[in-house]
Amino acid sequence: TITIGVLALQGDVREHRAALEAAGARTVGVRRPEELAAVDGLVLPGGESTTIDKLLRIFELDEPLRARIADGLPVYGSCAGMILLADRILGGTADQRTIGGLDVTVRRNAFGRQVDSFETDLAFAGLAPREDGPGGAGGTDAVHAVFIRAPWVEEVGPGVEVLARIPDHEAPGIPAAAAGRIVAVQQGSLLATSFHPEISGDARVHELFVRIAKG
Ligand code: GLN
Repeated sequence: TITIGVLALQGDVREHRAALEAAGARTVGVRRPEELAAVDGLVLPGGESTTIDKLLRIFELDEPLRARIADGLPVYGSCAGMILLADRILGGTADQRTIGGLDVTVRRNAFGRQVDSFETDLAFAGLAPREDGPGGAGGTDAVHAVFIRAPWVEEVGPGVEVLARIPDHEAPGIPAAAAGRIVAVQQGSLLATSFHPEISGDARVHELFVRIAKG
């Protein structure tokens, strides 16, 4: 079995571990460089990217993590984790840094104040249909996406594949400026989503990451 670490400095670590285990992986919490060195893949959870950034530096995990990503470690970043994986950030705090690796520009807290948290169903490229999904036995590839003070991806580099966007048409509860925005991307073995599949009881995004990590 493959061992996936979940960065356990801050954020929704337990939910990611449960979703990864449902997807067939063994999981460990990662707080120390020795733990990081032992995993086959890593999840950067949702939480607060400025706090996780500070803790990564305090725990001296930032440089080891950059080195492992440069070496090809599969990493999945959700929400704050997406921010940490991004090469470029808009709307960060003055001293905020990212780990980087993913050739994208993210906008932090992008969806604005009025509807800073919302849920919607999104088409997501490459996921198996859900037998119990809204499409019934015929299935649907839609993912129920929960956004909590989420970032969006404002620009992607040439090697980045877009897996999901906010629908182009206006919908109640979704800010007009969000229409068409990119919210899930993959670049090689790096995966990132603006939203939190670990809390919606649908393990398919984690299954996708486990497949990526198995190579
Ligand atoms: N707004 C948070 C940040 O900037 C991310 C929120 C989340 O992970 N749910 O890090």
